[in-house]
Amino acid sequence: MHPLPTLKITEIFPSIQGEGLRQGTPAIFIRLSGCNLQCSFCDTRYAWTGGREKTMQEIVDKVRHIHTDYPAEWICLTGGEPLVQDITSLILSLKRLGFFIQVETNATLSCNLPVDWYTVSPKPDAYAFRPEYKKKAHEIKIVVTKDLNYPVIRRLRNAFPDSIPIWLQPQSILKWSTKKALRLVREALEDGQANIRLGVQLQRLYGIK
Ligand code: SF4
Repeated sequence: MHPLPTLKITEIFPSIQGEGLRQGTPAIFIRLSGCNLQCSFCDTRYAWTGGREKTMQEIVDKVRHIHTDYPAEWICLTGGEPLVQDITSLILSLKRLGFFIQVETNATLSCNLPVDWYTVSPKPDAYAFRPEYKKKAHEIKIVVTKDLNYPVIRRLRNAFPDSIPIWLQPQSILKWSTKKALRLVREALEDGQANIRLGVQLQRLYGIK
């Protein structure tokens, strides 16, 4: 008999989507363990390793349990990088229960799943992404690090349709990063680039999980 498929999970919790176009929307977050990158500015290092092996049934049960008290319509699959594990059956199970699915990904791994919303966040140094995300992305999020420069933003702007916003997300809402993000938004404006916006992390602003 095959063992039941499991996923390594760091945490599952109810909260509010704090970033991007879906900001302010209640959601149940499933933080999957593991990541294929090691960004120096990562604020979820605790999800790189470890995590608890859970069967699909255990994960779904936990989500349903949270949902009885917190009837959010959206599930946000995040990490780490949620696509380092095969989340196909998890997504299908959650869709069957009627949830809408958001995936936050660094876009370096392939995914052909019935996802309702992709937040694509390419990472330095290469800011690489798989080409299929040009069509799949609903929004792009770039963390404004010390090394980020405007040509990277222009390259990403030219790679994705203008209708897809590019959020410049100040790193951990730090002052220097916010100032830099504002400078970059202005530079994009002067350069005639569309739909490049200043982002924020509501969860940090309000001190919520
Ligand atoms: S891709 Fe995301 S989770 Fe992975 S190291 Fe970078 S910031 Fe952290």
